[in-house]
Amino acid sequence: MQNWLLQRAYLTPERQALQFEGRTYTWYTLVEQAKRRAGQLITAGITPHSRIALLSPNSDELVITIYAGMLLQCELVMCNCRLSATEIQAQLQDAEVTQVIATSEQQHKVASNVILLEEVQQKEVRIVDMATEWQEQNTLSIMYTSGTTGSPKGVRQTYGNHLSSALSASLNVGMSPEDVWLCTMPLFHVSGFSILMRAVIYGNEVLLYERFDTAEVVHQIITGKATHMSVVAYTLAQILTQLEQQNLDVPPSFKLMLAGGGTIPERYLLRAQQANIRIAQTYGMTETCSQTATLPPQDALRKLGSTGKPLFFNAMRIEGTTEPFIQGEICVKGPHVTPAYIGKFATRNTMQDGWLHTGDIGYFDDEGYLYVVDRRADLIISGGENIYPAEIEQVLLGHAMVLEAGVCGIEDERWGSVPAAFIVVTTSYRQEEVEAYCKAHLASYKCPKHWFVVSQLPRNASNKIMRHQLRELLT
Ligand code: AMP
Ligand code: MG
Ligand code: MG
Repeated sequence: MQNWLLQRAYLTPERQALQFEGRTYTWYTLVEQAKRRAGQLITAGITPHSRIALLSPNSDELVITIYAGMLLQCELVMCNCRLSATEIQAQLQDAEVTQVIATSEQQHKVASNVILLEEVQQKEVRIVDMATEWQEQNTLSIMYTSGTTGSPKGVRQTYGNHLSSALSASLNVGMSPEDVWLCTMPLFHVSGFSILMRAVIYGNEVLLYERFDTAEVVHQIITGKATHMSVVAYTLAQILTQLEQQNLDVPPSFKLMLAGGGTIPERYLLRAQQANIRIAQTYGMTETCSQTATLPPQDALRKLGSTGKPLFFNAMRIEGTTEPFIQGEICVKGPHVTPAYIGKFATRNTMQDGWLHTGDIGYFDDEGYLYVVDRRADLIISGGENIYPAEIEQVLLGHAMVLEAGVCGIEDERWGSVPAAFIVVTTSYRQEEVEAYCKAHLASYKCPKHWFVVSQLPRNASNKIMRHQLRELLT
């Protein structure tokens, strides 16, 4: 296939491509910058086709460097800036990268072979010979999974993975050239990185931010600039609260919010509908290069709580059953699924019998819509009963006094394990009231047996709750 970047700049040079902190780029200027940056990377000692790591928060300079890396056909290891030096170094070693490009703020986390992004920007621009054709099976990006259930695994994402992901996503969502995707997701996670890849393939503009800022996001939505945005439950709640408190109207120019990363509480979906925001719930992961199933907004209320059907190119099944409503491990197959891990997991098959086993529990209803229940690893077994924290968190978030909720199991002499609730609450909070509410909505063995009011919950860079860290809050 054609080099996506050269093709995009050739086809739609004048269209807007990127905006960051007031700086704007058309596709022509952005690709020109990426070409220059590719030349600077060569001067800085980067070899085409080598594996390099990028360690930087979101910025236009990071975007330019990612696109430059693609022009050089490098394999880009996207490092998570929120990780500690020890964690970063373990990943760099595992990935055997030749060089690391880091911002000066992040530099201290890297022991050797580090090149400062700020210095690359000053380097002499060499002329580089760029491949005009790209191969689908080549690796574009490598991302480490969050490693909630063991040590992080480096996931290889090919050009073909990103391409099929982008194409099937647009078949589902329907994109037009004027659409502007607001991105506050980190580019080092597939939720953010895939926005950049889709932008090249669709020729869309990305409105990029270093971090999520509620007031700014709401401003871009209500003034009509942003048309699409990716959110997780936490950021969705912030946006809804602001819209509700200020009684703001969402104009029809805002087309869609893609909500994923974890369960979205039903109450949020209903509030979103009240606020005139169309939500598409989605299910995906690093190994599937972003979305694998997405509920189109026209089904949002009829299938409340579902993440929809598989996207066009892929298949999904529940391990051990073809019957509706039977829960089991979700398995995925399709051209968006990673072909392999790298490093110490390189020999581990990502597939069993041709299917990716996700480690997530879910079921299909009788119309073939997927419902994701929870991660298998977060299961609490209490007196022989299975309890999924997501169900309890959803009930807690249904109460107006609870702003944030995380649930995990705590050891218990009698039951083996019992659910404990960690909540961020409003000033009017009364525990008896929330407990009574839980008793009315949950079987008694599912009601939290321990309650902890905290000022915030441990979240990763995409604002997902890290349940394994909840227990550490107690010590
Ligand atoms: P990551 O490993 O960071 O790519 O995150 C992927 C994981 O997030 C999945 O394996 C699920 O456990 C979880 N996840 C993603 N989307 C959803 C969803 N819509 N509902 C429930 N869990 C989800
Ligand atoms: Mg995972
Ligand atoms: Mg994650």
